[in-house]
Amino acid sequence: MATERQVSMAQFRADLDTINPTRGISEIVVHHTWSPDAAAYRGLETVRAVRRYHVEVRGWSDNGYHVMIGPSGAIFLCRPIEQPGAHTAGRNAHSVGVSFIANFDRDEPGSYAGLRAGQEVVAALLERFELDANAIRFHREFANKTCPGLKLGLAEFRRQVEAAGSRANPARPKVVLLPGGEVIECHAAVEDGVTRVDLRPVAEALGWAVHDRLKEQGKVYVVKGEG
Ligand SMILES: [Zn+2]
Repeated sequence: MATERQVSMAQFRADLDTINPTRGISEIVVHHTWSPDAAAYRGLETVRAVRRYHVEVRGWSDNGYHVMIGPSGAIFLCRPIEQPGAHTAGRNAHSVGVSFIANFDRDEPGSYAGLRAGQEVVAALLERFELDANAIRFHREFANKTCPGLKLGLAEFRRQVEAAGSRANPARPKVVLLPGGEVIECHAAVEDGVTRVDLRPVAEALGWAVHDRLKEQGKVYVVKGEG
């Protein structure tokens, strides 16, 4: 049964809000496809090929994974999350399987744009099912495999997902201008002890202007007393 479709991050979040799985989801298991690797990726066609392999060769009812992520950050909904997947022996009943189209034994995560999209997907799943980063598991914890690849470390991956979650959730720290107590609507987060705040809304609330026309040259100008 063909169920895969590409969605934006916003659609992924909206879809998550509309489903109500009753199977007690308590883990997100992360995979890589290994083959096809990032270089072999051909968009939706690759996702369909994985589904056909799982159905026709492995004999499963659908793609084994719930979500697949492309090297450029495309998000593909595969098997419906309400149904148990077929991706990690012994863990399928209560988990969601997310797979990067990559071979992270060889492909460099640092030059794989989809890594961040996948981490945002995992962050959204954690938020939806009220789980913390300890619920992120790697397939290799449960199988004699390297999946999701030797170049990915679980502790770092969990930290990056937590950071993605705080970027995605502007409800957490608010910026309050003093005196006066004006609340600035912007992304604000403390990541690894560093406070990160969107510059433009804060600067503009202070009556400063931000010029980023030269950002290709590595410069953003913040001009006091303008605008
Ligand atoms: Zn795997």
